[in-house]
Amino acid sequence: MTKAIGYAANHSFSRLKPLEFERDDPKAGEVEIEVLFCGVCHSDIHQVKNEWGNTVYPCMPGHEVVGRVTRAGGSVTRHKVGDMVGVGCMIDSCRHCEPCREHEENYCEGPNSWLATYNGPMVPAAMSPEHTNTYGRDNTYGGYSTVIVVAEDFVLRIPPALKPEVAAPILCAGVTTYSPMKHWGVKPGHTVGIIGFGGLGDMAAKLAKAMGAEVTLFTRSEEKLAEAEKLGAKAVLSTDKTAVAALKNSFDFMLDTVPEKHDVNPYVAMLKRNATLAVVGALEPLAPVNNQERAMHRKSVAGSIIGSIAETQEVLDFCAEHGIGPDVQVIPIQQINHAYKEVEHGEVRFRYVIDLASLKQEQAA
Ligand code: NDP
Ligand code: ZN
Repeated sequence: MTKAIGYAANHSFSRLKPLEFERDDPKAGEVEIEVLFCGVCHSDIHQVKNEWGNTVYPCMPGHEVVGRVTRAGGSVTRHKVGDMVGVGCMIDSCRHCEPCREHEENYCEGPNSWLATYNGPMVPAAMSPEHTNTYGRDNTYGGYSTVIVVAEDFVLRIPPALKPEVAAPILCAGVTTYSPMKHWGVKPGHTVGIIGFGGLGDMAAKLAKAMGAEVTLFTRSEEKLAEAEKLGAKAVLSTDKTAVAALKNSFDFMLDTVPEKHDVNPYVAMLKRNATLAVVGALEPLAPVNNQERAMHRKSVAGSIIGSIAETQEVLDFCAEHGIGPDVQVIPIQQINHAYKEVEHGEVRFRYVIDLASLKQEQAA
């Protein structure tokens, strides 16, 4: 066992506070990672506040984790001590169902689907028989912590061209936006609309542009219009009804990152014939969609969840190759409660990333 410390919430309206706990030693096939940086995803806030109704407390978030391998269990071949590595939203899956066999672990159909990096149930059925982890808790603890132990198959290589604090958000925001764009075939010359200019929107716009698409960002915030243009994207105020109406039937693909229930009908109207709007933001029932508009132009409204391990490696390598990455604001963990408020108010530009050195200092003090 290794002594660890992290920041966790004790109930749905509590602030995150330090929590001491223990991580298991790495077993066969697992690596221990000293966490250096961890991105702050809006999902962390939904989970801490129990907005999906499934949070187990204490809740220690963090699924955009970058650090160095400090120990490797027996039979580990993919990573070695000293490697810079990453952990995204999943740390295991059933490994036997059809999606797992087809390397789409993010659509695992096992008894509890994939095992989430935090708030995952610590019951054997949630894990593959090969990796019966026994962390001695009811739920998994994520990367707002000094150390994490993960099955090596779910650990990513961080390309040396990416700074670790920049690589961190690619592990969720990057792959969540890359995977649907790849699945729905975004290609050079396509017109792509991105709705919501936060952590996911920033990555989506940069990735779509690097794929050769012409990008339009939809934002509620006037002050973000100029920032979108800096990325080489067109920018439209989503509240500007005239601008929105002028874009009828103009996009080959749209990605919606708005974090709450909202009306997607204005965006469906903007899709070209046969095109898809993939909603990754609101993971809840949407307002009713006008099926006449969909049927008359064979349009689709779809959803998508994170991305596979292979796609996560692919998007890290793609970002390194194209010299792109998220805009990050590095913070000490002691500022996390304030950072959550800023994210909720759409103030972050565009991803907070926690520097875990701040937590090690707190542990040492
Ligand atoms: P952010 O808060 O960083 O960005 C969301 C952006 O959406 C905001 O910056 C704001 O942009 C816009 N927005 C916020 N509230 C509203 C609203 N009420 N109406 C319209 N627009 C709004 O969040 P993230 O990018 O980190 O995450 C976005 C969502 O995606 C979250 O719900 C998260 O849980 C989810 N998610 C889903 C995943 C999946 O696999 N499907 C994986 C990861 C995250 P602007 O100011 O430009 O309007
Ligand atoms: Zn996330």
